[in-house]
Amino acid sequence: MAELTAGQNMTVAEAVGDGVFDEDCSEMVVVKDIEFYSLCEHHMLPFYGRVHVAYIPNGRIIGLSKVPRIVDVFARRLQVQERMTSQIAEAIREVLNPKGVGVVADAVHLCMMMRGISKQNSSTMTSCLLGGFRSDPRTRAEFLGLVRNFG
Ligand SMILES: [Zn+2]
Repeated sequence: MAELTAGQNMTVAEAVGDGVFDEDCSEMVVVKDIEFYSLCEHHMLPFYGRVHVAYIPNGRIIGLSKVPRIVDVFARRLQVQERMTSQIAEAIREVLNPKGVGVVADAVHLCMMMRGISKQNSSTMTSCLLGGFRSDPRTRAEFLGLVRNFG
């Protein structure tokens, strides 16, 4: 249980370390299919799946291996998927001040599979779009298209 909730004792700054670099790049960066395992805070049962994270740099980029570390900060704790999705997006925004951030999470919830309505094949998708991902329909469509096609 300590390992499953280790994210509670981690900060985003610790996860990122010195993994932020000045870079004059303005194209969308997408890190797809980041596996995560979390615990539903209502039922104390796992939910798990994949997260896709994208941002448009604004003079700085983040080391690609740091993105899954940020995901783990917010996944490895008692959580709800909707909040986890927006916390990841806000963390990327705070670290990079990018032109936009998009996060999509796709997960199955054991609390839906093992109890209650007992649905085995449903998955839950949540998204958080900030900056250009929210305001520019082309950016949003590009991101969601990439996630859909390859996710
Ligand atoms: Zn639950």
